[in-house]
Amino acid sequence: MAQLIAEQLKEILDDFADPETGRGLVRAGQLRDVRITESAVEVRVGFSRFVAPLWNDLAAQVAQHLRNRIPTPVDVHVEVIEHPRPAEQLEPVGLAVKAVIAVAAGKGGVGKSTVAALLAFGLKRLGARAGLLDADVFGPSIPHLLGCYEQPVVRDGKIQPVFVDGLPVLSMGFLVPREEAVIWRGPMIHNVLLQFLRDTSWGELDYLIVDMPPGTGDVAISISQIVPLAGAVIVCTPQELALADAVKAVTMFRRVNVPVMGIVENMSYFVCPSCGSRHEIFGHGGARTHATALGVPFLAEIPLNVELRIRGDQGSLISCLAHPHLGEEVANLCRRLVQEVINERRRHPPLPQLRVLS
Ligand code: ADP
Repeated sequence: MAQLIAEQLKEILDDFADPETGRGLVRAGQLRDVRITESAVEVRVGFSRFVAPLWNDLAAQVAQHLRNRIPTPVDVHVEVIEHPRPAEQLEPVGLAVKAVIAVAAGKGGVGKSTVAALLAFGLKRLGARAGLLDADVFGPSIPHLLGCYEQPVVRDGKIQPVFVDGLPVLSMGFLVPREEAVIWRGPMIHNVLLQFLRDTSWGELDYLIVDMPPGTGDVAISISQIVPLAGAVIVCTPQELALADAVKAVTMFRRVNVPVMGIVENMSYFVCPSCGSRHEIFGHGGARTHATALGVPFLAEIPLNVELRIRGDQGSLISCLAHPHLGEEVANLCRRLVQEVINERRRHPPLPQLRVLS
């Protein structure tokens, strides 16, 4: 061990690429501390909150990387701390968000809003900074699911999102009285979306989850004209009809050049609370098969769960994250999504943005 000097260790660690930037950990200033003793190596590395859901995996990967490269067998301990990395502003609207993710479905009622809310709050629970924008103009259900009907206020010319459990939320539903149908034409919708994305104090976020209206591509096109979408998550249920619509949603996003991060099968199975047996009420496996055929990742199976339905109806959906099985399913979904966002960045690194001077 004595031969292993800190400089060698740094070289080894610099061969480990930061998942967000692709740069070596040492060059990017993410190696914080190294301790080498007779029998062990202890390192402390920083990763950004953008990848906070993967911190445990990353610690294990760094440890394995060291074990593979250090010639003598040695105990390796890796501690992860936060590496602050501010979000660049997305031009032209100046939104300081690292990834805007659309959650969409081919048809209504498949649990798209439920999944969008679980994703936003799940990412926050795992350490990332997340916000939730309900862009489902025709049936905004986020206020109902979160039990939040507060009117957002405008301060210094900026809309202030409503904070639910510390997470900023804005919904089309905040703008219209409950029970009232919204009749908006395309340009009006575009203007509201522009205000929600450009004229709102979202603060600095890693992820802005956008609950999209089902089916139609209008809002997707509007949003992708306003800010670059990092990707889309498609929610469906296992029935053939729902799957056929999900395939259309994948095709629609591909047509507007938005990468599809994957498919989530909601109401995938039911576990009987009394006997614990699993029932596949709407069939099973279709979403995974379609995902494979389309060449998109299959992200998660969320069970049909009575608690989810009851708490969603009561406006306390988020409390479901404390449910051991559901909480773990949602955490896995969040981790897979973050991994896909990173994979997509590796395939197509974001281009540097030039600010147009006026
Ligand atoms: P969408 O946004 O696709 O129209 P919602 O998320 O509003 O769908 O969900 C529709 C209804 O289904 C809500 O009452 C919601 O609580 C319920 N729901 C959604 N997902 C589940 C699930 N996995 N288990 C039980 N109920 C669910």
